[in-house]
Amino acid sequence: MKRWGVLAVFLCALAANAESPLKYGLSYRSEGVNVVQVRIDLPSPPSAPVSFVMPRNYPGGYEFVPYDSFVEDVRAFSDEGKPMAVKRAPDGPRWLLGNAGENVVRVEYSIDVVRMEKQILSSVDTSKVRPHYVGLLGYSVFAYIDGLEDTKIALHVEGPPGWPVFTTLAPAIPAPLQTASVFAANYYALADSEILMGPDLQLRQSDGTIALAMAVYAEGEEDLSQESQLARTALDRVQHYFGDVPFPTYTVQLELLKPLPGHDYSFAQEHLNSGTFSLATDEAITAHTTPQLIRRRLVGYAHHMAHSWIPKRAYGEGYIPFLWEMPPVIDTIWFNEGFGRYAAIAALADGMPAHEGQEFRQDQLDGLRNIVSEAPAFIRRMPLVVLSREASFLYSQDFRTGMNTFARGALMAAQIDDRIREQSRGKKDLRDALRAVLLQTQKEHRPFKIEELAPLFQQATGVDVSEIFQHWLQPLEH
Ligand SMILES: [Zn+2]
Repeated sequence: MKRWGVLAVFLCALAANAESPLKYGLSYRSEGVNVVQVRIDLPSPPSAPVSFVMPRNYPGGYEFVPYDSFVEDVRAFSDEGKPMAVKRAPDGPRWLLGNAGENVVRVEYSIDVVRMEKQILSSVDTSKVRPHYVGLLGYSVFAYIDGLEDTKIALHVEGPPGWPVFTTLAPAIPAPLQTASVFAANYYALADSEILMGPDLQLRQSDGTIALAMAVYAEGEEDLSQESQLARTALDRVQHYFGDVPFPTYTVQLELLKPLPGHDYSFAQEHLNSGTFSLATDEAITAHTTPQLIRRRLVGYAHHMAHSWIPKRAYGEGYIPFLWEMPPVIDTIWFNEGFGRYAAIAALADGMPAHEGQEFRQDQLDGLRNIVSEAPAFIRRMPLVVLSREASFLYSQDFRTGMNTFARGALMAAQIDDRIREQSRGKKDLRDALRAVLLQTQKEHRPFKIEELAPLFQQATGVDVSEIFQHWLQPLEH
């Protein structure tokens, strides 16, 4: 994230059926309608009762978002297509489907997207419906069946006749008209994807080591070529920094929106292989754009693209497996947001002429030092893990928690980078250490523990940086 500026009995039954893909269908019937309809077919029908759950936060959002309040008309059906009992749980975003002795074959519900955008004031947290455009965030429209989060999903999307339908799960340009059918490896992949459709959706592809899909909806003037070039540059530099190709295509979902009174357009959001940038129209790249805005956009793109590696593919405890029903307490947001941020800075600096790169890095680090030095004493007295726990819920709502978490993390990363370069006589740097964390996470499919980082870094680079970790994890003052 970045600012611009129990149930053991039926769980066993569910696990036995984990092989058949779940079928999700999403339809937006016609232009001007406020709602999307979702249908979940369960080819291996689990025994009732079954819990149907809507997210109340999303990975990297670090806040509570009540997506369940926009769920309407939940219906469930049994083997014979008979309607089943549906009970809303008194607390929490859960519905209990059916009674013992029945099997749940199908669930249907709708999401009022227009009401969602009215009530959720941060543009990046909400899906949107416009006369000729619909932009949907997976976690804001898709619920899951408790216990089936790891099951493969076949998704079928249906839009109004003639509308192009684009999904980040299988980005295709030109996009197919009216319908698209794709797969998601599991619920997380579905929830962390976007579905975009409509005649006002502009799509552009550019080739590279990782292909780039630009999916843009603009309510004002916008230079798509220049925008696309900036994103291409950022993606190439970030990919070059991490070295691998974890996905074939990265999608930039860019919305340039006429601001609604009281709404906030200052945050963007990373996903597995895409980024959502929901900005106000005055952030559009045009012929009159200032170099400052161009630089800010390049840094913003690189930041969110770097997140597709850190934390999406290298993460501490609490990030994956993800807790969808309430914001998880995470001890390592300083890694997600600080090391991710620093990696983007280093990647961009590497691609610049040496002098310009040093100056750029210095400017960025100066900004981070200012955040830390100007922080209120009570925040400076917090150990970094405590600050990270606060930021788990308050990251953007009280951005002092977000800023100080990422600033301390990024300054720690910078110091580690300098130490490794110095002691290895320029043969190694932080990227070697980060690549080792990426490799371990992918090999072992588990989050790292904080105390594993220093030994792993040493193994990868030959340099002991444990004292730098210890320093930054402590309070800044007593
Ligand atoms: Zn971020």
